Amino acid sequence: MAIVNCPECNKKMSDKAAVCEHCGFVVDGLDANTLERKRRRARADYINKLTAQSMLAMLVFVVGIGGLFYFRDDTSPDPTWQSQISIGLMAIGFIWYIVNRVRLLNTRRK
Ligand SMILES: [Zn+2]
Repeated sequence: MAIVNCPECNKKMSDKAAVCEHCGFVVDGLDANTLERKRRRARADYINKLTAQSMLAMLVFVVGIGGLFYFRDDTSPDPTWQSQISIGLMAIGFIWYIVNRVRLLNTRRK
């Protein structure tokens, strides 16, 4: 038994399974060409989705940096709550971006 990607939702499934347990796509009865074409399409869609999410993560990060400069208050030693939110956005954007890049790399390697 080998693990392959579902031609419809791109999640992992057994190559012996007749139906995808994640999306219910019926694999049984499809010829190898159709399966391969659908599989490539699902993979491309998944890569596009991850790329779009990477862009969004980058945007969140940049907004965080912008906020940090915009809400900077040199008169007070304590960061303003806006600065703290900006730092949070930067952290979320950064981590989200890295996670997406790793997922992209893992997908492309296959
Ligand atoms: Zn599926």
